[in-house]
Order: sequence, then structure tokens, then C-alpha cells
Amino acid sequence: MTARDPLPRDDNVSPCRLCGKPARHAFNRVILERYDTPYWECSACGSLQTSPPHWLEEAYAFRGVHIDVEQASRGVRNWICLAHYLRAYGVTRERCLDFGGSSGLLARLMRDSGFDFYCFDPYEMPRYADYFSVGELQPNEYSVITAFEVFEHFPDPRSDLGRVLQLGADLVVFTTLPYAGQGPDWDYLVPASGQHVFFYTEKALEGFGRQFGYTLRKTRAFHLYVRDDGAFAQAGLCAVEIPPASAGALLGATCWDSAATKQDTQYVRDRFLAEIRSGAGKA
Ligand SMILES: [Zn+2]
Repeated sequence: MTARDPLPRDDNVSPCRLCGKPARHAFNRVILERYDTPYWECSACGSLQTSPPHWLEEAYAFRGVHIDVEQASRGVRNWICLAHYLRAYGVTRERCLDFGGSSGLLARLMRDSGFDFYCFDPYEMPRYADYFSVGELQPNEYSVITAFEVFEHFPDPRSDLGRVLQLGADLVVFTTLPYAGQGPDWDYLVPASGQHVFFYTEKALEGFGRQFGYTLRKTRAFHLYVRDDGAFAQAGLCAVEIPPASAGALLGATCWDSAATKQDTQYVRDRFLAEIRSGAGKA
């Protein structure tokens, strides 16, 4: 059977949205306090997934972070670890993209740390990085792509995650909690928000990455897809593990009054003044 073969009609079977193989009914949870929804576990890649999500428009209609109170602290933690990782990997002025970058906070902080970061998020106003955000993505434009707490939001991961990997970055740094049979009470399902709809096993992430020429690596802070023929294929992992004691020092040294911040300040001031002079914001 190939991924495109029709599946046998069976109410307890649904095709996996990553690998196309049959997924069996695992349990139900109530999404958005309204929709009693089956979750399915794939017989081949092992991933867990909701039924095809019809509620996404409602799920994203809420403004603010609402129940995701850790969003801010997660951003700061990711910034500190990521700056350390990328330096250890020898990244300097390579173009980097924060995919699904939300408010643009991480892209802004990474720019303050001297990296050439841009934010992509078609669903949010990247208020911290509005002059450093991109609306269209082309292959081979970015050496490094980051995607923190993004992949579990993909309604159709075969094409959505495929689209990220087809951009051809040498390194993709991401977080998503792997599924390993946690069951219906797993916190990460967050059915009340309706936004987490696909939960990958590590086997699934590994196998899917391989189709695009990536090797999956796991560090204490992040998962990495390292492109097999890319610039970081030979880099060791031990160099990038952050010793906890150095986090404070790294935070202090990483951005205040940096040359990178001063350079961006000049650029955004010039651009902002030019926009005002051309009539932007006039009543
Ligand atoms: Zn699957």
C-alpha cells in the first residue's frame, strides 16, 4: 500500500495527515469546549492527530496569548539558548528566519545579538520586527530557520512541514513536544485552545526529515534538522549544549547597547522618517 492508496472504509480508521497510512481511534477530547473530537494514532509513524480541524478560524479568533502564559518566558529562554547555539555553530551574518514568529520578539532579540534575523508569520502583526518581517518565502534564501512551538499547529503537516523543509535551510531549529503514547490527559493537547492539532513521534519527525535530506538531532533545548549536504552537517553536538551557569553571563553579554542594535536603530529611524514624509499616518 502506498501513501495515496484509498484506505478501507472503517469508522475507526482515518488516514494519517503526515504519512498517509491508517491511523486508529485513540480517544476523544472536547475542543474549544464545543466540539467532541476524536484523536487518532497512526499505525505507521505513530503520530497522534485530531480529526481534520474545522475549528481553526474560531481557535485563532481570540486576541492575545490567553492561556499560553509561558509565551514570553519561552521567547526569552529560546533567545538565550539560540544565540549560544548559533554562535557555537559559527553562524555570523547568515540570513536567518523565525518561521511562525508571532510578535517578532525573538527575531528582534536575535538581531540585537548580532544575527541577521527576519520574522515570518502570515497570521500576526510582528510588532517587534515590523521592518524585519517577510511576506513571501523563496527556497534557499535562509541558512537557518527557527520554528518554536509551530509544527503542532500544522493542520496538514505533510504539506505544511514539507513547505518549511523545502525552503532548503542548512539548519532548522525547532521545538514541539514529541508524542510517545501520553494519553488523553496529556497537557500538550490543550484542547481548550483548539490550536494544537498534530503531535509527532520522534520516529515520524526523523522519517519525514529524511525525505528532504535532513538528519534529526536532539539537544537539551531544541530539536534540529541538519541538512546532510549543508554547512552544519559536520558540526558536533556537544559544542552547542549550554551550561546552565553561563546563561546569566550570556544574557548580560548578548545585546545591551550592541553595535547590531545601533545599526538597526539607524536603519529604522531613516525608514520611519521617510514613511512619515511620504504621508504615512496622516488623518
Ligand atoms: Zn503517520
